[in-house]
Amino acid sequence: MGTPSLWLDRETMRRLGYRTIDALVERLSRPWDATPIVRTATPEELAARLGGPAPEEPVDGAVLLERLERDVLPFMARNEHPGYFAYIPGCGTWPGALGDLIASALNMDVGSWGLSAGPSAVELAVLDWFKEWIGYPRDAAGILTSGGSAANMTALACAREAVVGAMSDRLVVYCADQAHSSIARAARILGFRPDQVRVLPVDARSRLRTDALVAAMEADVRAGREPLFVAAAAGSTSTGAVDPLQELGEICRERGVWLHVDAAYGGFAAIAERGRAALAGMELADSVTLDPHKWLYQSFECGCILVRKGHQLREAFEIVPDYLKDAKGMVPREVNFADYGMQLSRTSHALKVWLSLQHFGLAAFRAAIDRCFDLIDGAAQRIARSPDLELLSPPSLGVLCFRRRFPGIADEDEIELRNAKLVRALAATTTGFVSTTRLRGRFAIRLCVLNHTSRREDVDAVIDFIERTPVEAAAVAPAAVTEYDRDVRLEDGWLGAPRVDADVIRGLRLFAALEPRDVDRVARMAREVDIPAGATIVEQWEVGREFYAIVEGTARVFKDGRQIDDMGPGDYFGELAALEWGASFSYPRLATVLATSHVRALVLPGPFFNELVRDAPSVGAAIRAAVRTRMP
Ligand SMILES: *Cc1c(COP(=O)(O)O)cnc(C)c1O
Repeated sequence: MGTPSLWLDRETMRRLGYRTIDALVERLSRPWDATPIVRTATPEELAARLGGPAPEEPVDGAVLLERLERDVLPFMARNEHPGYFAYIPGCGTWPGALGDLIASALNMDVGSWGLSAGPSAVELAVLDWFKEWIGYPRDAAGILTSGGSAANMTALACAREAVVGAMSDRLVVYCADQAHSSIARAARILGFRPDQVRVLPVDARSRLRTDALVAAMEADVRAGREPLFVAAAAGSTSTGAVDPLQELGEICRERGVWLHVDAAYGGFAAIAERGRAALAGMELADSVTLDPHKWLYQSFECGCILVRKGHQLREAFEIVPDYLKDAKGMVPREVNFADYGMQLSRTSHALKVWLSLQHFGLAAFRAAIDRCFDLIDGAAQRIARSPDLELLSPPSLGVLCFRRRFPGIADEDEIELRNAKLVRALAATTTGFVSTTRLRGRFAIRLCVLNHTSRREDVDAVIDFIERTPVEAAAVAPAAVTEYDRDVRLEDGWLGAPRVDADVIRGLRLFAALEPRDVDRVARMAREVDIPAGATIVEQWEVGREFYAIVEGTARVFKDGRQIDDMGPGDYFGELAALEWGASFSYPRLATVLATSHVRALVLPGPFFNELVRDAPSVGAAIRAAVRTRMP
């Protein structure tokens, strides 16, 4: 025997390949009710199955497949299940999966034209399809990415390079509070500080309020900042809402601000008529994020960023070191994808798209998307008719939100508890799987119908379950509650010594039920301030994170110039801007508060306020209730 080789003979390659394919086909054709949609296990249990050092000696292929079947594959979601309506379902196709196999068997590396002209041309062809579907011009450019998160980050980096160049602390990013968290992450990665991301309120249909956007931009310009980037959603995660794209297009064009449309899951609806109507205006954006691994039925990973003025994408990313000069295409028409994003070595994400689209034909994809529109509309009608259900957001791009009503029960926390129980009980069946969200502070069950496998009866079965299951019967083992790990960073306050009298704190309604330990923390962290009559305490659209509780005096609240409330001792304000939305970004002030007498108030720094809301149940409940009524 010579040195063991990593190259296999043809017979072994075939045998391993056939066996693997057989196992996959077996698994994919297993009946839907044979296994739970999601099964999980503890890290310890799985480490016991899978941990340990790499084996020094070879393990037989058949043994490996068995181990996969036993120790790995049971513990993952069956994304292709027709009752998978949670999060954003991702349901691939077999020809697409074979595309990934081919890309990886041949180890495609689609960074330069010189080394992969064929796969580069496939990617260009796929990008041309996408451009046409969303109404982009021919000279738009793009690149396939690992997903929407990478695409959103690429867009923000491109915008910054195209509009201003180097990073500056004057730049501001705007998005709705319904924006996907990857926008916050992109901003954080690219060095935007907490006061450089403006989270804005939405209208009754969960769409970014353009009046709020304009007002916030104007406040920023007055403060010497520079509006850079608006991240609009075309298919927001919670409700599928589409921000008013036409109007946003005009607002941004007038001000030289980059409009990005995050159409990660929703964008491909454009190939169907109802989707195209819902997405009108998307073509006005400077850049668009699409996720073929969502509603274009590609397997993970496959995202895409398109930039309307294609040269801007290349200019933002192109860097050519000496050691790559040979590999680059030298003719301008030869696209080197390494110049269009942050990866050099990159697989072909395009091959699966190209193969699956050709295999089934575009009409089949359009029909699958159309069927999702039919199913979600049918579900909405059913929910609207049912006396036991409440439709919380209308169907939009495959998503709606609803929940069960309970006669005689109006308490939000109780409604949440019961609905959450039903959702957990459903997840324990093989019928369906939904996730939950919060709309203006109200608990909602979210139904997202995107899978090409889903049928009317699958949707009905889930609605039946939520509508009819007795809540007592739905009692399943509650999810493990983990003791919140207290953040000690801020425990000691500014000087370590209490600054505020404990009785003053306990005298405030919001803090009346605080544990002594938490009273102590508030005493250390809070500041008492005196505000003269007539002074503006906070101003709408300005940036500020402090939370105020009035100890003495009165104040008046104005929104958009209209008086909306009067406050006195025990009342509080500033919680919306103090609460963290993500990556420590938050709303600007959503109202103006004016002292109508001399006011003495407790002021809590935003980060500490967030800790308190998290760990003190009485404060958390009160603030959640306040958010429900005060969110514009
Ligand atoms: C899924 C999603 C993302 C994130 O995309 P990934 O592919 O998961 O990285 C961003 N925005 C929206 C609207 C999404 O639906």
